[in-house]
Amino acid sequence: MDKDISESLKIIRYNVEEAKAKYRKPEDIVRIMAVTKTVPYGRVNEAVKEGITLLGENRVQEYLEKKDFYDKNAEINFIGHLQSNKIKYIIDSVTMIHSVDSEKLASEIDRLAAKAGRQMDILLEINIGGEDSKSGVSPEAAEELLYKTMEMKNIKVRGLMTIPPIGESEKAFDRMRMLFDDLKAKDPDMDTLSMGMSADYALGVKYGSNIVRIGSGIFGSRK
Ligand SMILES: *Cc1c(COP(=O)(O)O)cnc(C)c1O
Repeated sequence: MDKDISESLKIIRYNVEEAKAKYRKPEDIVRIMAVTKTVPYGRVNEAVKEGITLLGENRVQEYLEKKDFYDKNAEINFIGHLQSNKIKYIIDSVTMIHSVDSEKLASEIDRLAAKAGRQMDILLEINIGGEDSKSGVSPEAAEELLYKTMEMKNIKVRGLMTIPPIGESEKAFDRMRMLFDDLKAKDPDMDTLSMGMSADYALGVKYGSNIVRIGSGIFGSRK
């Protein structure tokens, strides 16, 4: 079912502000990302007209089909699983990649960013629940990946991203916050925690998220 985008954003903004007022500092930034998978560009642009300034893309092919039609007032982040041979299609037009989970992928982004004459912001994706079905680096291996990526000149590690195990968001987000604080002690430039989706974004805000990634909560359930 398609949702009334204006109405759903009102509710989401209210809930984000409420969680922020309760658990966060007034100066903390929490951005609402609209996740666009399966959503026609016309509806994505409606969300931008309603003030959304950040779009999240999962699939390279789908993104390439829609990107020229997107309202240019929103910036684009890539949040889906990314194959090394597809980086070249997105390196010029996205401002951050949330799904970096290996040294190999990071070094290929670094190489192509250099070629494109830019620096790319990245997040390390953490498989916080240790699930076989999910991508992401294990919490134990995150520090080593951080050190490796910190040495790469054309990428900048801005923080961490996760998708928690179903039904365990609160425990997972609490662990993520601790891991973030640990790693930030090693790389003080880290300023971004990307966690919380339609079902658990208020919990994400409670535990320190700076970007909540919301798809169905804005646009309605996916077909
Ligand atoms: C689909 C997706 C989301 C949004 O999921 P909803 O439950 O529809 O809000 C967020 N993050 C990632 C990585 C996704 O693939």
